[in-house]
Amino acid sequence: MTDLLNQLNSIWSQLLELLSRFVIPDWGGLINLFPVLVLIGVVGPLLTLLVLAWFVYAVRAPRPRVRLAEGPERIPLDPDGRPVVRPGLPYCRRDLLAFAGNATRCSECGDDLAVICPMCGLGRPATIATCGNCGLVLQVEPRVRVLRPAGPPPGGAAIA
Ligand SMILES: [Zn+2]
Ligand SMILES: [Zn+2]
Repeated sequence: MTDLLNQLNSIWSQLLELLSRFVIPDWGGLINLFPVLVLIGVVGPLLTLLVLAWFVYAVRAPRPRVRLAEGPERIPLDPDGRPVVRPGLPYCRRDLLAFAGNATRCSECGDDLAVICPMCGLGRPATIATCGNCGLVLQVEPRVRVLRPAGPPPGGAAIA
């Protein structure tokens, strides 16, 4: 009986010793790991901040670009050197700039803008909304819609 207990005891202590090799942490190794832990603790949040900053930048960045698209646009010239003015868009004859929407004054030279009637092709000052020739009232439209070529929109035939 005592022998058995002694044997059990020795097995138990051997087991504990075996376990201790695995369970008790290797402090030396942990201290070696310390710089790595600090790196993770410092670089991790920094990386998170960077990603956040990038995200905020990416979300905000398109706004100035949209505003730029609303600015004046250079009018292209045809092979004979004559400006190809889009009807319905206010434009400056001096700077050959086309303006969006309801602009009436050139942002470059301050001249009154002109507009070409989309119906009859007659030019007039952009301050006058109604064409004196055909009576068409110029609607102030977003540039995107003015730029779209005439005709049914893509997929319109399927809807109709
Ligand atoms: Zn101008
Ligand atoms: Zn007209």
